[in-house]
Amino acid sequence: MNEPLTAPRSLKSRASEQPFKYPLERPFVEPDWRRFPGYKGVTQQEWESSVWQRKHTVKNLSELKTVLGALLPDDLLQSMERDQKERATMSILVPPQMINTMDETDLWSDPVRRYMLPALADRHPVWPNHPKASRDSLHEQEMWAVEGLTHRYPTKVLAELLATCPQYCGHCTRMDLVGNDVPQVEKLRFGIGQKERWQQILDYLKKTPSVRDVVVSGGDIANLAITQLEPFVSALLDIENIRDIRLASKGLMGVPQHFLQNAVLQGLDRLAKKANERGVALALHTHVNNARQVTPLVAKAAKKLREMGFRDVRNQGVLLRGVNSTAKDLLELCFTLQDFGNILPYYFYMCDMIPNSEHWRLSVAEAQALQHDIMGYLPGFATPRIVCDVPFVGKRWVHQIADYDKERGISYWTKNYRTGIEYDDPEALSRRYEYYDPIYTLPESGQAFWRAAA
Ligand code: SF4
Repeated sequence: MNEPLTAPRSLKSRASEQPFKYPLERPFVEPDWRRFPGYKGVTQQEWESSVWQRKHTVKNLSELKTVLGALLPDDLLQSMERDQKERATMSILVPPQMINTMDETDLWSDPVRRYMLPALADRHPVWPNHPKASRDSLHEQEMWAVEGLTHRYPTKVLAELLATCPQYCGHCTRMDLVGNDVPQVEKLRFGIGQKERWQQILDYLKKTPSVRDVVVSGGDIANLAITQLEPFVSALLDIENIRDIRLASKGLMGVPQHFLQNAVLQGLDRLAKKANERGVALALHTHVNNARQVTPLVAKAAKKLREMGFRDVRNQGVLLRGVNSTAKDLLELCFTLQDFGNILPYYFYMCDMIPNSEHWRLSVAEAQALQHDIMGYLPGFATPRIVCDVPFVGKRWVHQIADYDKERGISYWTKNYRTGIEYDDPEALSRRYEYYDPIYTLPESGQAFWRAAA
């Protein structure tokens, strides 16, 4: 007869020392804005007012100097001035809420400053720009089915409702269209009036039953009055084939106060109810790049959306060197989102190949290593995929490369669907599509290749 099974006498497993330490050590509090000279007398009521935040959003370096005073080093200010004149692809626009998440004791290295207020000295001295970089590097406008509606994937589309945001990010992928002109870039403008353009978008979706999923973006929907956003999304909800709607707003983090206004809450509440009645998944996608930017006000706004019936609030960050390019940075951000904001860490995109973005970009090999290093810590459903948005392809997980020339930094990708402009292209599914690593990350022989090519 077999002996009865018993538990082993000594159990061996225990919580081990890990490369990343959990729980998080940074306290989850709204940083005190009164530490900045320009916000010294600002009351809590003012701070929590969307109107106050918008009115006091920093629009140029002289306003920044007024807010930061002596905290802003002169050499940093001068370097930012030169950057605006010589390299920047976005104008300055930073709400107080975002300034308050910067480390005033080290603004040169601060991750939020590094991507919202770039300085010339941040950029790579030899390769600030990749020879293959371009405006609209994802060719979204070429894939417009009607003006502002990018039809790239088989069942999903991107609707660009407007070309402004409550904040302008230095690395913006849509720098071609979004924001004000800067010395380096005269922006593209929509040619058709808003009302007619939006109607054309709705008409296209009604007559295209293969589309089930709409990203309602811009720009940023936080810059649309709720009296404009609500009827558009409501009309989308009336289209039978639309099953998923994702509202895209970095403003949930940049100006959470916007989403805490009564009129906005009431309008979004009506949309959430209508979506639930019709069995459509309505979600909000935000864009947070560093853990410091997730504050109690951001968490409060996200909670309101979930409580009213939004299916989810998810984060799509951008992988940026010096902002979130270590496993520790990424895990800290993901745990902060998940634990305190109940915001799902969903994707990190590699920074796109727009002009002058080289110092922010990582190589595919670096992105693959990061994906490896963050696996296993978070729940599987909250472990973000690091993706490369390959021109003419779309999002690919960084391990999905078909081939990789590490010497020249060229990765090759394939795809399994046609974009909206390839319906008559017989080679669309057999072609290899290229993506390029930053040249300064390559071995000397690879850099010599690009010097000769440039
Ligand atoms: S919020 Fe989004 S669209 Fe607006 S500037 Fe930033 S990255 Fe670009």
